[in-house]
Amino acid sequence: MEMMSLEEEETMASPTTSSCGTCKCGANDDKAKKTKTKTKKCELVGYEELPEWLKDNEFIHGYYRCEWPIRETILSIFSIHNETLNVWTHLIGFLLFLCLAIFTAMVIPSGDNLQRNSSRSRSNATAMDYYYIHGDLMVMSNMTRVLRHEALAAAACLLLHDPADLSQHEQISTSCPTNTSSYYTSSSSLSHLHNVQQQRQHAIQDAGKVTAATAIAEPITRWPVFAYLGGAMACLLASTACHLLLCHSERANYVTLRLDYAGIAALIVASFLPIVHYSFLCDPWLRRAYTAAIACAGAATVTASLVPAFQSPGLRPLRAALFSGLAASGVVPVAHKLALYGGAVREAATSARCEAAMGALYALGVAVYAARVPERWFPGRFDLVGHSHQLFHLLVVAGAYAHYLGALEYLKWRDAVKC
Ligand SMILES: [Zn+2]
Repeated sequence: MEMMSLEEEETMASPTTSSCGTCKCGANDDKAKKTKTKTKKCELVGYEELPEWLKDNEFIHGYYRCEWPIRETILSIFSIHNETLNVWTHLIGFLLFLCLAIFTAMVIPSGDNLQRNSSRSRSNATAMDYYYIHGDLMVMSNMTRVLRHEALAAAACLLLHDPADLSQHEQISTSCPTNTSSYYTSSSSLSHLHNVQQQRQHAIQDAGKVTAATAIAEPITRWPVFAYLGGAMACLLASTACHLLLCHSERANYVTLRLDYAGIAALIVASFLPIVHYSFLCDPWLRRAYTAAIACAGAATVTASLVPAFQSPGLRPLRAALFSGLAASGVVPVAHKLALYGGAVREAATSARCEAAMGALYALGVAVYAARVPERWFPGRFDLVGHSHQLFHLLVVAGAYAHYLGALEYLKWRDAVKC
């Protein structure tokens, strides 16, 4: 779609001259008219020209697509209209979460990766191999310190102490007995020194392997994080499709809006999974109870959204309240987590802060969506850029990203501490 021509602007300026039913490239009843109008370009129309099913926000006055053929509707992703930024804000959000999913799978090792690395540790890898990829600098730093300490202690013992005592591997990193200057004088002593040196090397390697095995332990499962990322991507992609296609026909409008609502519910339900799974890792009953409760609430929300009346503009506050209520119920497991671990586990508190940030961003987004600001204050001024739905989209992406950061805190916590 190209920018509006003068003729198009005139059309919008006098909205009563046409209706969506006479879109210049529209799929309409009159065959002759169709043939004639198919040669013309699709045009943007004003709010007053829209059929009832396409009317949603009277504060956005112009730049509407209306009943365009499917090809033009899809290609309009590259043109300017009042849904362009609604489409792109969530399409870019989808690509962002796709990258995060790839990053999570590649850079933060999965259980399988760690398992493979764990087998390597039994052969020749060192502790650093694992956390170099993991990026857990604190653990890696501690491990490095332990190994360095042991290596220095071993070297010091070799140079300064009696080899007879050096075979005491258990004392490798603690103390070394003093003496002996005469030790280096005989060939048998040199041979003995060589043996002891080898034993010392093995002791250091064993110590390194034990340290590595202890540090990596069994990694916690990653599926709740990937389920969350999947829910976020589903929501963002459904929203992108909805905003792109809803103008095509009443049927497309109905289907894509339901898809959009289902995507929002999927995002909210999937957001619960890392919270519930990792917070209540040690209590399977509680974990299942919370998961079942949110799944039922999500299913009920999607079912309610299937009712045709749900989409009516007058029910906008109800829609906002329903999805907000579903999301707000996340306060319960988060408060429960804080009651159990808030004072003792740093990651529990940090993840709760991320979840609070997510909640604040979502709440602000819903408030903007329901209030329809700023276009309410300056009707027609924000038709293309800056209207409430675009702001709502940006806040949703920001909130979802805050939740992802919280999910990483859970991995850090539960990789180190299980039940
Ligand atoms: Zn939207």
